[in-house]
This record gives sequence, structure tokens and C-alpha cells, in this order.
Amino acid sequence: MLIEAHNIHKTYQEADYLLHVLKGIDLHIETGEVVAIVGPSGAGKSTLLHILGALDQPTSGQVKFNGQNLYGLNDQQRAKVRNTQMGFVFQSYHLLPELTALENVVLPTMIKNNSRKTSTIEFEGVKLLEQMGLGLRASHRPSQLSGGEQQRLAIARALINKPKVVLCDEPTGNLDSQSGAMVIDVLFNLNKTNGQAVVVVTHDQAIASRAQRVIHIKDGLIEAV
Ligand code: ADP
Ligand code: MG
Repeated sequence: MLIEAHNIHKTYQEADYLLHVLKGIDLHIETGEVVAIVGPSGAGKSTLLHILGALDQPTSGQVKFNGQNLYGLNDQQRAKVRNTQMGFVFQSYHLLPELTALENVVLPTMIKNNSRKTSTIEFEGVKLLEQMGLGLRASHRPSQLSGGEQQRLAIARALINKPKVVLCDEPTGNLDSQSGAMVIDVLFNLNKTNGQAVVVVTHDQAIASRAQRVIHIKDGLIEAV
């Protein structure tokens, strides 16, 4: 088992009340599995994905990643798990505008190795760009790319350190259906070739229907379907 979440709660203190966003979530993600998380807006999907991805602390409950208790680690240890074993893809790409496509892709490896750009790192970056259909875009900046190209670039960046899981939050939310379909092809094909688990929060029925398993979230709980 790759990810095991047990009795996850998340609350936010608002001015005069407590907002209970996640109300006791149990779930597990197997190695190499493709899982979609669906549910209405405000259901707590992004909050849950962030907690699974070591980006946000639950108020209570436990997340085990590869057998390690994520929130029992200190910040530095948890950041290391996140940087080396997880990849993230967000609706709005989160690319660095002043870097080229290739520089964006290799940045996580440079951070991981605490190194400058080497020819080995660049070689891996170019290879991934080619796999994403971006071989001719290596020296473009994000603003010179279409939305679909930017998202495929973000996927390349998420994959460069060969993570065990790629966590995606509405990855096609800003895309037209054709570019969205390409992004999904790329994501799911990668899973086939490299065996990464993919967890994708989505409103997109086309994505959900291609996942191996769909988890429905409503009002902070998993709904039985
Ligand atoms: P979804 O992704 O399913 O649309 P979210 O997880 O983003 O839902 O949000 C669930 C609820 O938690 C919403 O009511 C949202 O306003 C609230 N929320 C999310 N993040 C915060 C925060 N940092 N502070 C306060 N409330 C938050
Ligand atoms: Mg969301």
C-alpha cells in the first residue's frame, strides 16, 4: 500500500465558528493505481489532496506514505518525502514565468540534488519534454505556450524525480476539451509505462471514467456509491 489515510479531520477556525471541512476520511491508494476523487465544489477535495501530499497538516488523523507516518516526521523530513517521492499538478500550472520550459522541468532535480544544471539532468529533462510532445518547446517560456502545453510541462516537472505518486488538482480545469484530453492521455500513459500512482481530483467525467477507481467526496466525507 502506498498511501493510507486514517480518520482524517480538518477544521478551520472562522471568526465565530469552526468550519469542519473533512470529517473522518479513510482511504488507501495502492502502488501504481489511478484514482479519481470527485465531488461538488467545496466538498473538501483540494484540502484532502493537500493532506495526502504533505502540503497541509490534518487537524487529526494519520497519513502513512510508503509506511511512514507523514505528520510524525519533522518539517524537513516531510519536505524531503514530498520533493523526492511525490509530484504535483495544479489547475493553474504554477510554472515559473522567468524560466524556460527545460529550466522549469529540471528545477526539482536541481533542488533535490542541491546542484547546478548538469548535462545528465538536462538530458533527462529533454527526454521528458519529448515524451510530452514538447520537444520543440524547450527554450520557450511558459507565456509562449498554450494552456495544454503548459500543463504538459507541469506534468513533466512533476515526473522528473520519478515520484511514486502524482497528485493532480483539477488538471484540466482551465483547458478546452481537446487539450484536456491530451493532458489526460499523457498522465494515464505515464502511469502505464512508469507505474506511478496517479490521484486526480476532477470535475471531468472523462477523467473519472478512465480511472481504476473513483472516490466520491461530499460534505467532508466519502460517499458510498
Ligand atoms: P473543493 O476542492 O472540494 O472545492 P476545498 O477543499 O478547496 O474544496 O475547500 C473545502 C472548504 O474548506 C471550503 O468551504 C473552503 O472555503 C474551506 N477552506 C479551504 N481552505 C481554507 C482555509 N485555508 N481557511 C479557511 N477555509 C478554508
Ligand atoms: Mg478544489
